[in-house]
Amino acid sequence: MKKEKIIKIVIIALVILLVIGFIIWRNIERNRSKAEEYTASIKIVTSFYPMYIIAENITDGASNIELVNMADVNVGCLHDYTLTTEDMKKVEDADVFITNGLGMENFLEKVINANANMKIIDSSKNIENTISHKEETNAHIWTNTEKYIQQIQNIKDGLQEADSANREVYEANANQYIQEIENLKEEYAEKLQALEGRKAINLNEAFEYLGQELGMEMTTIETDHEESTLSAEMLRTIIDNMKEQDIEMIIVAKEDNKTNAETIANETGAKIYELNSGLTGELEKEAYLTAMEENWKILLGEEVEN
Ligand SMILES: [Zn+2]
Repeated sequence: MKKEKIIKIVIIALVILLVIGFIIWRNIERNRSKAEEYTASIKIVTSFYPMYIIAENITDGASNIELVNMADVNVGCLHDYTLTTEDMKKVEDADVFITNGLGMENFLEKVINANANMKIIDSSKNIENTISHKEETNAHIWTNTEKYIQQIQNIKDGLQEADSANREVYEANANQYIQEIENLKEEYAEKLQALEGRKAINLNEAFEYLGQELGMEMTTIETDHEESTLSAEMLRTIIDNMKEQDIEMIIVAKEDNKTNAETIANETGAKIYELNSGLTGELEKEAYLTAMEENWKILLGEEVEN
C-alpha cells in the first residue's frame, strides 16, 4: 500500500471518529440540559382531592410547576386511607406537599421520612373554632366557606414561600378564587338565614362545618363517611332523639349507602338531604363552588340540576 493511501485512510477514519464523537457529545449535552430543565421545575403534590382543587385554582397559569394529586379521586376521604407504594412515589421527589392538616394525613411522618427536603404546607394553620369529639378534631373544615378561604390563604402563602418566581400569579389567582366564593356567599346570604337554628341529624362528619357556618343545630354522628356502619342500638337512639326533639332533617353524602338514613326517615317522617361532601368529583377548578352551591340549594329545598 502506498504511503499516501494509508494517510488518506487514517484521515478519513479520524474524521469519522470526530463526527461520531461530536454527535455523542451533543446528545449528552442535550439530555443534561433537559434534566436540568426538569429539576428546575417545582413539583407540587396535594394529599387529596379538596387540596388539589385549591392548588389547581392558585397555580393556574404558573410557569415551571408540576401539580400532582397523591390519593386517587375515588379514594374519597383520607380517613381510612393507607399510603400505597404508588402514591409514595408521587411524593418522594416532590418539592412541596400540600396537606389539609388537623390529623387528616395520618401518614405524614412516613412521607417526611422519605423526603425530608420537601416543604409541607398545612392548610389548617391557625384556623380557629374547630369542632372536636372527645379527643379527636373533625378535620373536614372545607365545608365551612370561611375556613375554606383561610385554607386557600395558607396554601397561597406556602406556595409563595416555596416558589417566589410565581409569587404574583399565586396572589392574583388566590384573590380571584376567594372573590368567587365571596360572590356566591353574597348571592345566597339572605336565603340561607332560613337555615339558622334548623335541627338536623348529620350522618356524615364532612358536613359538620357546613352546619356550623349556617348556624344549624346539627347533631353529627361519627360514621367515617358511611352511615351503614351504625349499630341497631345507635339507630334506635337516633330515632328516639329525633322524635323527642322534632328533628326533621337527615343529612348524608350523595355517595353514602343511605340504608340507615331511609330506616330513620321511615320511622320519623324526616326528610333525607343528600349533599356533596367535596371529597370526590371532577378535577375542575369550579368543583368546590359547584358543590357548595348544590348543597345550599338542596338544604333550601330548591331544584338542583343533574
Ligand atoms: Zn373524612
